[in-house]
Amino acid sequence: MRPVIVAANWKMHTTPADAAALAAAVAAASEGPDVVRVICPPFLSLVPVRDAVTGTGIEVGAQNVHHELAGAYTGETSATMLAGLATWVILGHSERRRDAGETDALINRKLARALESGLRPILCVGEVLTDRDAGRAEDVVAAQVRGCLTGLDADALAACGLVIAYEPVWAIGTGRTARGADAAAMADAIRRVVAEVASPALAEDLPVLYGGSVTAASIAEFLGEPSVDGALVGGASLKPDEMAAIVSCAAVTAAARAAAGAG
Ligand code: PEP
Repeated sequence: MRPVIVAANWKMHTTPADAAALAAAVAAASEGPDVVRVICPPFLSLVPVRDAVTGTGIEVGAQNVHHELAGAYTGETSATMLAGLATWVILGHSERRRDAGETDALINRKLARALESGLRPILCVGEVLTDRDAGRAEDVVAAQVRGCLTGLDADALAACGLVIAYEPVWAIGTGRTARGADAAAMADAIRRVVAEVASPALAEDLPVLYGGSVTAASIAEFLGEPSVDGALVGGASLKPDEMAAIVSCAAVTAAARAAAGAG
């Protein structure tokens, strides 16, 4: 059975001091038996967040990693440097594709580093509005998944616990969300591509998250879809009460799926 995951992407918000307080507040407010909870703060806040969530069950992720382990790459952060600070990493977020020019080929190299380094990747894919309006959303996302996974070993991808987040670009930070049914259809499409380029077993076990303006008010629509396994949450993840409500909905889903799996 696939885990239910709620991952928080804090983007470029919080100072180290703010981050410690926010992480402690999120930890105190959100209890999620059987929900995998992850906070991805800015790099500078990894240490205070790690310290604040120690013993709470919340896991820590980075928002990016370089594709090399060391070298003349000014301003970059490698997987080696994340040891002891983060166990997860967000890769290929649309804001990095847009602002840092990240391509599927580069993200593929970053994924390879994550696999070698034992970081659990959340690979982000998603179409822009013109692609959706033109009816080519699935083709665009399929091409991203293919490009990012190409040449990577299926067993290594399974061992690192690959997660894919479907994040339609037009829904990120806009207050607009996809419909649950559209997210579910895309999750199914993503698994079909993963089955083809990696393995059917990896596809079956692959957690697929939805991301794009998820809030406490909208999360149930996504978790009501059996092929959607949780959410990557941006703006709402900076509000402890919102996170608490999202995690509590995820806990209900996790319990219901466990009961259905056992029955
Ligand atoms: C994100 O940062 O991945 C995201 C989905 O942001 P938001 O929830 O703010 O749309």
